[in-house]
Amino acid sequence: MRCTFCQWALSLAIVANLVILYYGTKLQQRVLPRHRELGRLSSQRPSNNSVPGVTILIREFEDFENYVPEVVQSFLKNNPTQPVVVAADILPYPPMQLPSSPHVHLVVLKPSPEQPAYASRPEYYVQTEYVALVPDGVRVDATKQLEKMLEEYKASRGQAHMVAAPIESLIPLHCLDLMVSLKEWTATYSMATSSNLCSALRGEAVILLQTRDFFNLSSPLAKPLSSSLFIQSSLRGWKVRILEDISFPSTQQPLFTSSHNQWKADNHAKASRAQLFRDFGIRRVVMEDEKQQWYGCSKETLRCFGTVHDDTPDYLYQDRWTPPCCLKALRETTSYVISILESSGVRYWLEGGTLLGAARHQDIIPWDYDVDLGIYLEDIPNCEFLRNIESGSIVDEKGYVWEKAIEGDFFRVQYSETNHLHVDLWPFYPRNGIMTKNTWTDHKQDVEFPEHFLKPLVPMSFAGFTALAPNDYRSFVELKFGEGVIENPEYPNPAFRKLRSGS
Ligand code: ZN
Ligand code: MG
Repeated sequence: MRCTFCQWALSLAIVANLVILYYGTKLQQRVLPRHRELGRLSSQRPSNNSVPGVTILIREFEDFENYVPEVVQSFLKNNPTQPVVVAADILPYPPMQLPSSPHVHLVVLKPSPEQPAYASRPEYYVQTEYVALVPDGVRVDATKQLEKMLEEYKASRGQAHMVAAPIESLIPLHCLDLMVSLKEWTATYSMATSSNLCSALRGEAVILLQTRDFFNLSSPLAKPLSSSLFIQSSLRGWKVRILEDISFPSTQQPLFTSSHNQWKADNHAKASRAQLFRDFGIRRVVMEDEKQQWYGCSKETLRCFGTVHDDTPDYLYQDRWTPPCCLKALRETTSYVISILESSGVRYWLEGGTLLGAARHQDIIPWDYDVDLGIYLEDIPNCEFLRNIESGSIVDEKGYVWEKAIEGDFFRVQYSETNHLHVDLWPFYPRNGIMTKNTWTDHKQDVEFPEHFLKPLVPMSFAGFTALAPNDYRSFVELKFGEGVIENPEYPNPAFRKLRSGS
């Protein structure tokens, strides 16, 4: 009886499964055409973007005031089958009234949970071999600018990865050289040596390049588009050729009719620029007029890197050196601490890796994360901050924090309460002509040394000022780190991260 029940249950389960399978398939068939419709472009898109021609890509515009529909209309008027992709971070509001055409797509980059992934990826909507990045407010006329750009691109092949046509406006297009060092978190612009073969541009232009090149960038759609594009392209060694004989007219009225809208747009541009540099890990930008812009840490922000493990800060694992903002803050702190020590009569000297940096190139070692000074233990009462520190930490009038280190018998001066970049002060005392102390770290350079190195202390150029250092500094650092250490740079803990020669 029980067995019959089992058979009955099993049959029922099989029938139920068949029913589910049947209706499931039917359902899928009903759903599929819709997906196919949506996916038409992606499934038809050849993998190498080999449909001839150029797709217009408009990426930068303000929701509150733009000419995007007019720009698109102008291209369609010239060529009714002109493919256009407008890429927006979020659905534009107020709504954008784009001309209705099967060749025009508005792609919202913010994915929506009910949509497939490609719906928010413009690369699926660009089928052509080339793409032209078109700023808002640009028109096209009957002079066939796109076709000419394409010809020029083909003629420049091998020399330029991109061609740029200026936009008729009062601001001429400038050709720049751009050097990006991710290791040093720095982008450096300079006036180009060539007048039309550049690694970056200042000013607005229509830029044409291969679709494959563009979408193989790490962040092709990052804004501001031009800053982002040239940072990525210069890292790949690409050049952009300025086409002097082709230009695009702009829309009749200038963008941003009110000063309030102009102000809003300027603020957006500034914010997206700061975000771009943060995302790309660029903390210092040197402009073509040699002015510097900083996008890194300050007294009000956290230190750029976290707690250091095994003497190897996180940035070394990313093949980067100390962020320049941190080096700058360390130099400032050191100069300040030394001025206090000197004025209060505390004998000090450059210690450890700091002295090594001074010996090697008169500065902090480019991958070091703190500064070390030795001081005479008996001089501590001379300095009001060090004298009073036992009772806790002191924030001085400049915002530096003086404290007794929790890790042992030494002092630490932090850049600020928030930013913990620091100078360490290591108290030593003489015993039978040897400088010693009571607690030791496991650093190999943390050893006793003869006092004669400190008699006398000698001035040494360091980090843009003059500091005191042991005499015969070469013997001193070789005693601490080993022979030839000045000439043979190495990371602090080669067992974890090694400095590769040439890197
Ligand atoms: Zn920093
Ligand atoms: Mg150190």
